[in-house]
Amino acid sequence: MAGEAREQSTGKRLRQPIVVVLGHVDHGKTTLLDRIRGTAVTAKEPGLITQHVGASVVPASVIEKLAEPLKKLIPFKLIIPGLLFIDTPGHELFTNLRRRGGSVADFAILVVDINEGFQPQTYESIEILKQRRVPFIVAANKIDKIPGWKSNPNTPFIVSYRKQPQWVQEELERRLWDNVIAKLYEVGFQADRFDRVKDFTRTVAVIPISAKTGEGIAELLAVLAGLAQRYLQNRLRFAEGPAKGVILELREQPGLGTAADVIIYDGVLKRGDLIVTGGLEGPVITRVRALLMPKPLQEIRVAKRELEPVDEVYAAAGVRVVAPDIEKAVAGAPIYVATSEEEAKQLAEKIRREIEALRIKTEAE
Ligand code: GDP
Repeated sequence: MAGEAREQSTGKRLRQPIVVVLGHVDHGKTTLLDRIRGTAVTAKEPGLITQHVGASVVPASVIEKLAEPLKKLIPFKLIIPGLLFIDTPGHELFTNLRRRGGSVADFAILVVDINEGFQPQTYESIEILKQRRVPFIVAANKIDKIPGWKSNPNTPFIVSYRKQPQWVQEELERRLWDNVIAKLYEVGFQADRFDRVKDFTRTVAVIPISAKTGEGIAELLAVLAGLAQRYLQNRLRFAEGPAKGVILELREQPGLGTAADVIIYDGVLKRGDLIVTGGLEGPVITRVRALLMPKPLQEIRVAKRELEPVDEVYAAAGVRVVAPDIEKAVAGAPIYVATSEEEAKQLAEKIRREIEALRIKTEAE
């Protein structure tokens, strides 16, 4: 009975959705991620953005604060604890976020320069998102470059838009339609400006933003958080069981040898856990020697964070895993915690088959 109650109470917990940023080169992916990481400073809530390995979390409190002026437009109370953004944009890393039947990413932001419109990597990104069945919203970036636009830094789009003269508003609408919305229709997606969308399950929401001035970032985060918790609740339900994750990259950790940067999307990973992952030569069974996370700092703008050991991490999280033989693993391989040697063997077999299947699939692509 006690177990059941626990199951019920923990079963209700939601983890942060894992969000990736994709789009054509120079359309503003890196600037947007920097801006998102800087939102805690803007929201005057320093220290609240928690840095992970390879990812950053924007907590719900910051999103709610930013969305304050939008209450009438986007009424919601957040029950997800925040959003976890993968720090590296683009599709190279995204391909490593594979998970059986889809992607570890729960949501994507497709960045399109509103002035330049769709470019080859915009189409490529859409193809990848379609293949992996990752829902996405579109950030129509660089609105500050629209002729006549007068920027209102760190203001919601709606507020800044209302302050523009009519001819500037019309120019924005024209570019938004011609360069973004019409192009989405051409590739089979119904789309509209986010505040005109009636059914978010059928229509892709497009949010005009400037990653440079911060205009529209409030809506971007609010819409993402709102959509994720409304439509992805089952996926985000968090189990307090053995961790499941994927290896993002392998890295040298000075003094400790090779380590794996891992995104945990389910469960809890603990120091000493028996883990199973995949390598080119076959599955790797090992034990976690150390888990490293960036040290919490007051000053969040410091780029290079020192890592410190922690005992456990909860999904969703980005963490550096130090373990013997981890150098034999490959980026993109799944990583699972086993509760016994027996289970480890079964998981190893499962991983061997998964990697085999992926290899066949990748060759076919
Ligand atoms: P990425 O290749 O997609 O990661 O693009 P970057 O973030 O590196 O941006 C490419 C260039 O566009 C840089 O010079 C940025 O400063 C600039 N940029 C990005 N976002 C904006 C924006 O909203 N407005 C303006 N004016 N420039 C931007």
